[in-house]
Amino acid sequence: MQACAQCGGSVEERFRFCPWCAAPLRRKLVEFFPAHPRDEGKALRVSRYLDDDPHVRFSVWDQTGRVESAVSVDEFQAARVARFLRPSRPRPHGLSAALKGYAAELSARRSSTGSRKTTSS
Ligand SMILES: [Zn+2]
Repeated sequence: MQACAQCGGSVEERFRFCPWCAAPLRRKLVEFFPAHPRDEGKALRVSRYLDDDPHVRFSVWDQTGRVESAVSVDEFQAARVARFLRPSRPRPHGLSAALKGYAAELSARRSSTGSRKTTSS
């Protein structure tokens, strides 16, 4: 057990944040993400630095454990990445409207070009 520097509450060392006041207990948070099979053997490491110069560093690691490339972004850009990657909410009404529009377009195209006629340009 250690004490939180922010509130003095006792916290376990494995905790990333103080359960009492939510203060970050580590200066650097690291998460590894294995690659898609097309980039097998590689990994993405995301390091979040919570020091006086908060930033997020993305690094690409190869299978030998070497960094191939890295880039750091500030917290504003990191938040943009997070928003970009957040799963989009299903929009059933918008989707069905889009599908109806597509179906209408297809049937209009079919009737205007005649049956089984292919165009080559
Ligand atoms: Zn605390």
